[in-house]
Order: sequence, then C-alpha cells, then structure tokens
Amino acid sequence: MPRFQRPTGTLDVLPEEQPYWAHVRAHTVRLAERAGFARIDLPIFESTSLFARGIGTGTDIVEKEMYTFLDKGGNSLTLRPEFTAGVVRAYIENGMRVRPQPVKLYSIGPVFRYERPQAGRYRQHTQFNMEILGDQDPSADLEVMLLISDVYAGLGFKRLSFQLNSTGCPRCRPGYVEVLKAYYQQHVDEVCDDCRRRLKQNPLRVLDCKADQCQPVIAAAPRIGDYLCDECADHFATLREYLDLLQRPYTLNHRLVRGLDYYTKTVFEVWAEGVGAQAAVCGGGRYDGLAEALGGPPTPGVGVAAGLERIILVMKAQGIEVPPLPAPSVYLAHLGPEARRETVRLADALRRAGVGVWLSFGERGLRSQLREAGKRGVHYAVILGEEELSRGVATVRDMEGGEQVEIGLAELVTWLQERTHP
Ligand SMILES: [Zn+2]
Ligand SMILES: [Zn+2]
Repeated sequence: MPRFQRPTGTLDVLPEEQPYWAHVRAHTVRLAERAGFARIDLPIFESTSLFARGIGTGTDIVEKEMYTFLDKGGNSLTLRPEFTAGVVRAYIENGMRVRPQPVKLYSIGPVFRYERPQAGRYRQHTQFNMEILGDQDPSADLEVMLLISDVYAGLGFKRLSFQLNSTGCPRCRPGYVEVLKAYYQQHVDEVCDDCRRRLKQNPLRVLDCKADQCQPVIAAAPRIGDYLCDECADHFATLREYLDLLQRPYTLNHRLVRGLDYYTKTVFEVWAEGVGAQAAVCGGGRYDGLAEALGGPPTPGVGVAAGLERIILVMKAQGIEVPPLPAPSVYLAHLGPEARRETVRLADALRRAGVGVWLSFGERGLRSQLREAGKRGVHYAVILGEEELSRGVATVRDMEGGEQVEIGLAELVTWLQERTHP
C-alpha cells in the first residue's frame, strides 16, 4: 500500500495548534462584530465565470492559480481563490441593496490557490475577510484599514504601518496607462520578458515586477498619483488626512497596484514586524467597479483579507501566548468492577453538572491511571476502590499540590462543581 500524504501546500491543523486558531478566530470575529460587521458564509466553490469576470482574465490568479473542475453535470466550478467576488455575488443575488447601506460583511474560511508553497503560504489557506459595500466615503476605506491593523496589534504584532496608493478609476486610469505604456516603449529593451508581456495584457503590473533589470525603469516611471481625476485625488487626499489626524504611519507607494482588474482608488498593504524585518502581512482596497462587472447595480465597495496561517506562524515564532482550550478538570480512576460501575454513573452526573471529566477506560492498576491523570492535565483525580465504595466515599487528590481528602459520594458532585467553577 502507498503511504498517503496530504497534498502539497496543505496543512493538518493538529490538536496542539488549535488554541492558536481558536484565539485568532475569536479575536478577529470580536473586532469585526464590534464594528458592525455581520458574518456571511458562502459556498467554497462558485461558477468559474464569476472569478474570471470578477478577478479578470489575464491575472495570475485566473490564468495559473485556480482549482477549476467540471462537476458531473458538466458545469465549470472553481474553488474560491478569494472572498470578494463571492461576497459581491451574494450581495447582488440576495438583494442586499434594499437594506440600509452600507452593508458590512465579514467571512472566515478556506481559499484555494495553486501557488508555489512557502512558509506560511499554502494552496489551501484560511482567510479572514471584511467588506464594506454601498458607500464610497474615504472613512470606509479608513475603517477597514484601521480594523485590520488593530487585529494584528491585538495579536501582538509590532511596528504596524501602511503602504498606500490610489489606482484611480475608469475615468483617469486609462490615461495613465497610456502614459505608462508610452514610457515603457522607450525602455522596452531594458525590461524583462514578463514585463513586455504584461504591457500588452495587464500594463499596471509592470510596476510590481521583482526582476533586477526592471527596477531602474520602475523607479523613473510616471506615477499614477500625478494623473488622478479630481474625484480620485480628493478621495485619496481625505484618506491621507484622516491617517495624519490619527498619526497612523503610512508610506505612499506608487508601485502598489493590484492584480485584480476591478480595484479602484485606494489600495493598501499592512506592514508589520514579523519573523525578521518589516514586511507586508495583508492587503486590500477599493473595488467600486466590481458589482457592475458582475451584472449588479453600481455599488462601491472596499475590503481587506488577511491570512491566518501567517498570523499564527508569526505568533509562534515570537512566543506570543494564547489561552488554553476547555479541557477536563477531573479524572475518574477506579479499581474493581463495582467501583467501575460507580465511576460511569459519576462521570455522567458530573458532566450534567457542567464539570469536564476524563473517565479511565478499561481495567488498569491505580499507578497507571494516576500517571494518565497527570498527563491529561486535570486538576483533581477521583479514586474509587471497592473499599471506599463500601464506606460510601471517594478519595480526591489535588494533582497540583498532591494532598488527598475523602469526600462522601453523596456530596462529591457538588464538591467538585464548586471547586472547578470558581
Ligand atoms: Zn479617477
Ligand atoms: Zn520586469
């Protein structure tokens, strides 16, 4: 038989990892809900055409990274590579436009991209996602930026800052793209093959090329900030004014563009000190054109997505502690068939009383059972033998201090309930 292994780029989240996951999930959900975001759960797969339309053909995600398959009915479906397209699809389909605007939604769950696996980056990874739909006020952009930054700060991340840009709108961006293309035509011999291809398919992406030879060309390239229309320029200026007002550090980065066609105006990344130097931990931006691209009414939107695996990787590397998960506080040890029957009854009574119990299975010596009690991390071990049973008592050992007391079986449930629920 072959030894089965998990697919490349996937992760088994083992029990000992779960306290991190529970803590990060609870923390992100608490901050989102406190700010008025409501949870939405969407299918993990959608029509392939939703992502082709919403993310854009010619992007790496759509061209190279999607898990696409035909179902038995011949429909082309894709495991979601991100949340936004699905959230906007659901907003349109469920008529959320008639609700009070804006509609604030958050999601948490897996997304799938066929990428080269690396530390903290998986082909199935878990995202926390927030969207504000139905408002173009720059304070909506500010809100998602601050919230996600506070998520990281609350988890122990240090030196948080933003990288910020505006990618304009359908009125001003095409003019800029023409200027950018004309500039690149003069430097076409100096740039890499990828950039020559990008110029035809997705020209803005030349700005985030990582090839050494392209860096001087990028540095001297025309900047979109100089080509914004009045509306985009005002929007961007207001957002920066708010960030200045709050003294939140940010860096203008004219190279910051998104591989997603529907992004308009604000685009940002959150930077933080992680494992080593400051680096991007998540990104987001505005997508005022998306709802219309998906056949819905014009609906402005802004959102952000953060990867949970990377958050947890950094928390562990930095030794950030998380609270333990609920666990049994009482171990029930027994010697002899009568005592065993009694502990089965006791376990049931304790559980009904809200006391977490680890009941010893099988028939083993007392020493072996107490060794197990130590390993399970319980506070109390209850020991019941035939002799104790005949006197109607049980021995209770405090596993931390080691002292033992005898408690009458009639009082035992209440006695343990009081001590395990301070
Ligand atoms: Zn514009
Ligand atoms: Zn290049």
